[in-house]
Amino acid sequence: MSFDINSGPVISTPLITSLPAFESRVSVLRLDTVHPVISGNKWYKLSGYLHQAGQHQLNAVVTFGGAYSNHIVATAAACRQAGLLAHGIIRGEEPRLLSPTLQDARSFGMELHFCSREDYRQKLIPESLKAITQSGSCLVINEGGYGVEGTSGISLLAKELSLHRFSHILCAVGTGTTLAGLVLSAPSEQQIIGVPVLKNAGSLEAAIKRLLPEKLQNGFTLLNQFHFGGYARSIPELFSFMNQWYRHTGIPSDFVYTGKMFYAFTQLWQQGFFPPDARILLVHTGGMQGNRSLSPGTLIF
Ligand SMILES: *Cc1c(COP(=O)(O)O)cnc(C)c1O
Repeated sequence: MSFDINSGPVISTPLITSLPAFESRVSVLRLDTVHPVISGNKWYKLSGYLHQAGQHQLNAVVTFGGAYSNHIVATAAACRQAGLLAHGIIRGEEPRLLSPTLQDARSFGMELHFCSREDYRQKLIPESLKAITQSGSCLVINEGGYGVEGTSGISLLAKELSLHRFSHILCAVGTGTTLAGLVLSAPSEQQIIGVPVLKNAGSLEAAIKRLLPEKLQNGFTLLNQFHFGGYARSIPELFSFMNQWYRHTGIPSDFVYTGKMFYAFTQLWQQGFFPPDARILLVHTGGMQGNRSLSPGTLIF
């Protein structure tokens, strides 16, 4: 995957394309095309945090993620562009061979700090980073970019692209920050539908509500039956769907997030969930780099 550190996001026009395979009533927002590495929603989520870092004249960012985390590699690349030092607290002991994601993150200048799964679960700051985090010159960003700051770039984008013209918007949900950003800019009649990719998403709904003012807290629906066994599971049925979707629409997807969202959409479509006059937008949140953890040949794109 090539990446020009100085180029910034590459916006290919048009960002929204309609799908002839679905009578052109369905469009896809191709955030996967904005940047090869700072992919999709992560770019927009990070923009609010980087803005905050700039306003407070901070010089470093600390954040958390796993070995294939889109958020980690996106943060590394975005910090490089913004001239900030990036530190990644990575789940698990340091492996002999770094994942391609972590190799990229390191090549963009991120310092990697590996920690035990137990320390990671508690989101402990390693001793080696305490001086930096306590110095007041550093911004700590939650795992996955969860937070109110993360919603602002998404709602700005929604306004810029006039997403109010759609009756239904579907997106994959990890932390729910992207979904909350969409809810914040949605007209009241618009349906915002999230497809959680985690299995035990019990606390998710409450976490999303915390990002929203009270009057918007019922402004979304979560479909909890499309997680395919949970986060980053290899499921042959999902791979074969992703290949089929690609043949049908020409749109590639990733197996952690967008593959599940497109699958959920086709199920709803086949069940007649959408009224005849529905104008549906599927948000392709990017994240294609995560497919590098699959064995070659699994996907046809
Ligand atoms: C991180 C990510 C998501 C989840 O976004 P949240 O704002 O955490 O819900 C969805 N899709 C892709 C491709 C991602 O990388």
